[in-house]
Amino acid sequence: MPILFRHLRIRKAGAVFAVLGSLLLALSAVGCGTDSTPPNVIMISLDTLRADHVGAAGYYRDTTPNLDRLATEGTLFLNNYSQAPNTAPSHTSILASLYPSIHGVYKHGQLLDPKVQTLPEVFQEAGYHTAAFTQLNGETYKQGFDHNHFLESPPNAGKGLESTEVIQEWISKSLDRPFFLFVHSYDVHLPYSPPKRFIDRFGPGYDGPLPVWIQRQDINRINHGQLELAARDYQYIVDLYDAELFRADEILGTLFDHVRQTGIWDDTLIVVLSDHGEEFGEHGLYGRHTYSLYNELLRTPLILRGPGVPGGKQVTQPTRNIDIGPTLLRLAGLKPPESFMGDDLRPVWKGRERVPREVVAERRVDRILIRNNYKYFSDGRLFDLSLDPTEQTDIAANHPEIALDMQEGLDGWIRRFVERQKDVASSDDILLTREEEQRLRALGYLD
Ligand SMILES: [Zn+2]
Repeated sequence: MPILFRHLRIRKAGAVFAVLGSLLLALSAVGCGTDSTPPNVIMISLDTLRADHVGAAGYYRDTTPNLDRLATEGTLFLNNYSQAPNTAPSHTSILASLYPSIHGVYKHGQLLDPKVQTLPEVFQEAGYHTAAFTQLNGETYKQGFDHNHFLESPPNAGKGLESTEVIQEWISKSLDRPFFLFVHSYDVHLPYSPPKRFIDRFGPGYDGPLPVWIQRQDINRINHGQLELAARDYQYIVDLYDAELFRADEILGTLFDHVRQTGIWDDTLIVVLSDHGEEFGEHGLYGRHTYSLYNELLRTPLILRGPGVPGGKQVTQPTRNIDIGPTLLRLAGLKPPESFMGDDLRPVWKGRERVPREVVAERRVDRILIRNNYKYFSDGRLFDLSLDPTEQTDIAANHPEIALDMQEGLDGWIRRFVERQKDVASSDDILLTREEEQRLRALGYLD
């Protein structure tokens, strides 16, 4: 049974009226030692996109020609991790640069403490236009956005990005001041329902027992062992996912063309990310992305391109989705709030990072720590990612000293939270396992 522990409360800076925006923007440009106008920022979350299906990241298929071109112009982070394996906690971690234990949002509709300052709020208070075009349900995802638009999926199993014209119209109308634009869509999420021309490209001639388009109920039958499938059938599921990805990439290409045509391409930071990956049977399940912390779910793409970002660079050090917010703010000449827990990634791509960088991700009381080539699960399992990238062989029994070191690393991570919590008013809870509670109590961190 988990115990409840007091939760970090973050005080938000006072709101700044938009009328002061341009003055603040000018000051921030001076403050960061540049005479250029602050950049626009377009942050695109392709929900459920695995890092290893992006062409630029080494996938064997040509799934993402437009993202690949973006990666060539900018920096590609090859070992980026989300902080949770599902949508609500992961997106909240991105927007608030906080771990799920701290922001406490685990489900859609659950409210983020409005006192927690979010990335769009910082841009808004600095005078940016802020807009969200998303398929996310819940007030949390609206915090800090002047304009919210729900991207309806068109009929006949179309996907959200097919409404890209409304995004383009908003950009065209919002050029008087810098803008922060957040786009989120379920284009590569189930159901896998790409038009025929995309199926013909990635899964031509399939005549097995699966339907042409795969819905949630088909995946449920597979996970419950109710469908007899052969290797070709399992491959067809991946084919459809890749077809959806290629289609989404094509639409993003039209969005990028529009940004170029408006003349703001060189003044615009573009970041492409995802909240989690997807399961294709690596550990027994398809299409659930909820129940584990394996890397098919945690490794997500991160491409960053625009002013201040080196072109043609690939970063192999581990990075985290909570690092995106602080990095975007620094690139815009703005100071991240004290509450943000992520790092500015500029020292990382400049080779000045602290070594080793660590990654933690959470699924309520379950946590993982990645350090160097090792990945440790809070249930005691240990994997060597350099020898076993798909996490099949637990080596904790053969390397108890490494497992203990990693467990102490994870406990240290929790203790750092507890230390922070002592300094602030608190109302919510962090979830700990009984074993973590006992270790922290023995160390004097709990009353
Ligand atoms: Zn998601």
